[in-house]
Amino acid sequence: MQNSRFFEKYLSYFLLIFLFLFSSCGTAMLSDESLAKKSKTQFSQMKKSEPLSNNASHKAMVQRIGKRIAGVAQVDLPGTEWEFVVFDIREPNAFAMPGGKVGVNSGLIALANGNEDQIAAVLGHEIAHVAFRHSNKRMSQAMGIALGGVILNSAMRNKSSTDRMLASGVYGLGTTVGMALPFSRSQEQEADHRGLYYAAMAGYDPRGAISFWKKMQGGKKRKMPQFLSTHPNPGNRIDFLNANMDRALALYRDAKIARGEKPNP
Ligand SMILES: [Zn+2]
Repeated sequence: MQNSRFFEKYLSYFLLIFLFLFSSCGTAMLSDESLAKKSKTQFSQMKKSEPLSNNASHKAMVQRIGKRIAGVAQVDLPGTEWEFVVFDIREPNAFAMPGGKVGVNSGLIALANGNEDQIAAVLGHEIAHVAFRHSNKRMSQAMGIALGGVILNSAMRNKSSTDRMLASGVYGLGTTVGMALPFSRSQEQEADHRGLYYAAMAGYDPRGAISFWKKMQGGKKRKMPQFLSTHPNPGNRIDFLNANMDRALALYRDAKIARGEKPNP
């Protein structure tokens, strides 16, 4: 097999790349300020290129929920300029960018039937991604990958052109550099965990998260939305959320009482 011979030959280079991957894994290397600036520019461009919702009640609802959850997350992210925008796109999706730029598709509001607890579950999750600076960590990792590529290229300089092509082909598998990097499974779980508590502390019934993910699970025939694509099994996600539900419900009840409102039974 050509491939196994190839791997033997260049084992040391691959080890070097692995070193780079591990050294940058989970670390935020980029400055938050520059990333927030880039996000702001990209978000402004999206607001021009993508259709915006004209539904006044949807827009007001997302503002209301977003502000309340961002208020809770403020201790983790002081000084963030939060912005919540509803896009008129049918795919049930939502995303968050560094610096607090959050987008929600009208299709997601439709799937949640406008239920605020369910929408709060999604916004809590997205805000938690920002709080954990997950994009920065993903991009730093990607930069490590790109750096590994540069090293590989210079190491291959004296090899035949076939070897070089083969090396960059193998190397290119599964590596992407850009703003929209998918989150890893562990990042998804971190966001699920903290997002559940954020929404609860903002006074939203955390059981809304279960109802929402069950609906997502039910819609298997639909194309898998991007923010789910890195997640292996929605069932696992529901189990994980349920395992943290007691604490979330206690936070929710405290929050409701503090707001002078009656919690759901
Ligand atoms: Zn996520």
